[in-house]
Amino acid sequence: MIPTQARVVIVGGGIAGASIAYHLAKLGWRDIVVLEQAELVSGTTSHAPGLVGQLRSNASLTKLLMDSVALYRTLRVNGEAGYFPVGSLRVASSKERFAELERQAEFAQRVGLEAHLLGPAEAAQQCPLMSLDGVEGALFVPSDGSATATILARSLIDEAQRSGVSFHAHVRVRAIEAPNARIRAVETTEGRIETETLVVAAGIWSPLIARMVGVSLPLTPMQHQYVMTAPLPELSGLTIANLRDPDKLVYLRQRDEALVIGGYERNPRLFSVEAIPDRSDPTVQTFDASHFEQLRSAMAERVPCLATAELAKGVNGLESFTPDGEYLLGPSHEVRGFWAACGFCAHGISGAGGVGKALAEWIVTGQPNVDLSATALDRFGTQAADPRFIDQGACRVYGTYYDLRRAEAVR
Ligand SMILES: Cc1cc2nc3c(=O)[nH]c(=O)nc-3n(C[C@H](O)[C@H](O)[C@H](O)COP(=O)(O)OP(=O)(O)OC[C@H]3O[C@@H](n4cnc5c(N)ncnc54)[C@H](O)[C@@H]3O)c2cc1C
Repeated sequence: MIPTQARVVIVGGGIAGASIAYHLAKLGWRDIVVLEQAELVSGTTSHAPGLVGQLRSNASLTKLLMDSVALYRTLRVNGEAGYFPVGSLRVASSKERFAELERQAEFAQRVGLEAHLLGPAEAAQQCPLMSLDGVEGALFVPSDGSATATILARSLIDEAQRSGVSFHAHVRVRAIEAPNARIRAVETTEGRIETETLVVAAGIWSPLIARMVGVSLPLTPMQHQYVMTAPLPELSGLTIANLRDPDKLVYLRQRDEALVIGGYERNPRLFSVEAIPDRSDPTVQTFDASHFEQLRSAMAERVPCLATAELAKGVNGLESFTPDGEYLLGPSHEVRGFWAACGFCAHGISGAGGVGKALAEWIVTGQPNVDLSATALDRFGTQAADPRFIDQGACRVYGTYYDLRRAEAVR
């Protein structure tokens, strides 16, 4: 049975909704209700490969991701950790890229994130499988790592439940009452809940819920693919750092004795909010090996054993992208009591811990703990309601994801 009243209703039982609920409970709020239309942790969180990188486009967002890592180090389910600080390497295959890494190293130092510029040989010690062809150097962030996102989300749910948060699976939000532009109640498949505060953390579905009260959340689902190899003898007994080779548009992490490889192709594929299927596994589409081939072969240039590696599985997941590549976080200025945390642009696992903390503090105290002006829901003005603007922006963000940045900005 769902309650008839709540202090806050959170829509979405993925890692973002779980983290917001966990942090609100930590700040002493009670009567917190999380609604999930399917099983808990069954959306995009269920299949993310879970690279966690902390360097972002500005100091506030980097601090937010550092908060995630500090939290993730503490989370367990039945003693099993969900975060492995294996470190990350970002390699430079050109002088321009190395200059960018130098700027990023300075930036990391300014925000208090440990990071080291390495020469090619030192970089190879962190990832011995890598070929050093054309490598000028690398940026190494020791506290970056890999997550098992389902464990992190489960652990946040368990902790939140212990603090009294009620999670309701298989309850779908169907409508929202907001007379006089103020949240009053949520209509669900199991009944009505009165509340003055609604937080939409519904991943790729978020714009559909926002529309129920006339708010535009400018994000679109995009198809993002990765593969996992069969166990590789080359990895036996090794623990390697995550690897990003932005000049080749690819990233990689180790999972046991296998590698997970993904990347940002220049010809990305949009999906549509309206086309999200109503079935189990709605955030997974058919894997397209021919589309992925450009990334697999680029990664094999950097990690030669991948040229012949057997692939155990390929995943085509749906993930939200915004027109400028930044999250959508905070309150609506159009409808009082409406909040959102979505548009994670393929770093929602990295961000969710800090996002939950910042949003909970903002809801409870009226101020976030970091400057979140870059993620304001209304930053696009009236263009937020223009599907062409959203799609074109999201494709540009995805297709240029690893392009050189003039400032210290990182993707
Ligand atoms: C292929 C791929 C690779 C990725 N790699 C990484 C990575 O390496 N590192 C990283 O940090 N991030 C990565 N991401 C991104 C990350 O997975 C997402 O940003 C994150 O999982 C989003 O979590 P969420 O809780 O916002 O959404 P979800 O996990 O999708 O949760 C939203 C939930 O809302 C529910 N919901 C929707 N509508 C309703 C409704 N009307 N009523 C009730 N419930 C509703 C859904 O059922 C869903 O369970 C990747 C994503 C993909 C697809």
